[in-house]
Amino acid sequence: MDDCIFCKIGSGEIDADNKVYEDDYSVALLDIEPIREGHLIVIPKEHFPYIKDMPDDLYTKLMLTVKKMQNILDDVFHPPKVGMFVSGWDIPHTHVHVVPMFNSKDITSKPILEKTSPQFTKDEFQATKTKITKAIKS
Ligand SMILES: [Zn+2]
Repeated sequence: MDDCIFCKIGSGEIDADNKVYEDDYSVALLDIEPIREGHLIVIPKEHFPYIKDMPDDLYTKLMLTVKKMQNILDDVFHPPKVGMFVSGWDIPHTHVHVVPMFNSKDITSKPILEKTSPQFTKDEFQATKTKITKAIKS
């Protein structure tokens, strides 16, 4: 879709500085409004408003990237759990949130509604990106 930010990132038209991983079918990005340090979103390169409408092979490839990112977040942050969810309220291009969870409420909307989500400086954000990309390469 012409005006979709995730399509532009997927096609390379926009070089997102929060990108941590890319393969032929998917891209992983640090969420710019993270629930926790390391909160990622994984998007298919192709535009699908609803994850349920993805062809099985692309759905599987997307979820394999999600699994890879879950393992990376586990290695980097050692959280008790790595959660994931798909909501789709903000950008109508399928994106799977993958979040290191230290609290059972980490993937509820509570921190967002109460505005208690963590705020990171540009340097902290960059440091998180470095930790994750290093783990992906190793
Ligand atoms: Zn799109």
